[in-house]
Amino acid sequence: MAERCIFCRIVAGEVPASFLHQDEEVIAFRDIEPQAPTHILVVPKAHIPSIGELGQSELIGRLIQVANQVAQKEGIAKAGYRLVINCGREGGQVVPHLHLHLLGGRKLSGSLG
Ligand code: AMP
Repeated sequence: MAERCIFCRIVAGEVPASFLHQDEEVIAFRDIEPQAPTHILVVPKAHIPSIGELGQSELIGRLIQVANQVAQKEGIAKAGYRLVINCGREGGQVVPHLHLHLLGGRKLSGSLG
C-alpha cells in the first residue's frame, strides 16, 4: 500500500496536531511553521491531491465556512485575514493533500508573490 501523506496521517490520528476544528469532513489545525501569528490549515479528511483535482464539489464552500468559523474563534475575524490555496509545484504546494491556509494576526503584505 502506498505511504499515506502527512495530512492523511494527521486525519488518522497517527501524527499529532494542534486541532481547532474537527467534523465528519473537515479538520483545522495549527501550521507547524507559522508564517503569521495565526496560521491555521483547513483540510478535508478525504485525500484530494490539490484544488486542481477537486472537480464538481461543494467541499470548497465547506472549507471556507470552517475557515471563517475558526477565524471568529481565533479573534481575527474583525481585523481581517487571508485565505490561501497553493496548487502544484509552481503554485508553491508542498503537501499533496488539498488544504487552505488561514493567515492573520498582523497586517499582511499586499504582495501576491
Ligand atoms: P503548502 O506549501 O501549501 O503545501 O503548505 C503546506 C503547509 O503544511 C506548510 O505551511 C507546512 O508548514 C505545513 N505542515 C507540514 N507538515 C505539518 C504538520 N505535521 N503539522 C502542521 N503543519 C504542517
